[in-house]
Amino acid sequence: MTSLLNLIFPERCIDCHKLGSYLCKSCFEKVEFIEKPVCPVCQRQAIGGKTHPGCSGKYKLDGLIVACRYRGPIRVAIQKVKYKWVWDIEKILVDLVAGQIWKFDFPQDSILVPVPLHIKRKRWRGFNQSEILAKTLAKNFKVGFADIMIRIIETKTQVGLTRDERKKNIKDAFSIRHPELDSRSLRGQNIIIVDDVYTSGATMGECAKVLKKAGAKSVWGMAVALG
Ligand SMILES: [Zn+2]
Ligand SMILES: [Zn+2]
Repeated sequence: MTSLLNLIFPERCIDCHKLGSYLCKSCFEKVEFIEKPVCPVCQRQAIGGKTHPGCSGKYKLDGLIVACRYRGPIRVAIQKVKYKWVWDIEKILVDLVAGQIWKFDFPQDSILVPVPLHIKRKRWRGFNQSEILAKTLAKNFKVGFADIMIRIIETKTQVGLTRDERKKNIKDAFSIRHPELDSRSLRGQNIIIVDDVYTSGATMGECAKVLKKAGAKSVWGMAVALG
């Protein structure tokens, strides 16, 4: 069925621009799914995406849920979404994660928390793509959503930085929005932090530290793509 919106903004494949859908069949076939879950710390294969015992730590991520590689059409989709919210593309990204979720052994009673943008950046961009992803995923999985983190330092982009530089760049960049209030609700809570891309893990690792120090029981990461 053609809606008025389709007439104004016809659906075109994000990668090859073919008319008809946001991700055509042949581009969908190019998506490289993560066949075997990996450990968020060393990124080597790990059962159910759980952090290896030797890689784990009190304030580290407990596991990682990630759908596919940050390549081809998915890279294009995520970059488009980042700079201009294109109607319905987030549905494709959410469906990708939803289709792979069975591979991961995470706590079922988790709530989803987006990786925050600095307020200035959010104002400039008009939205936080991680927040929209987390909200849509929470609705999809019928779990809670809580936008309880803030970015207190305006960090420079992580793109082009080495693993160590990324860690340094993002250090102490995050905080709990309402320390007293949120810490009370965080106590004993299982959390999944949501972002579009997982690269070195520096950003989500830093979020995990803040959330665990505030009392979270476990913190997993969830991303559409592994960079
Ligand atoms: Zn295509
Ligand atoms: Zn590991």
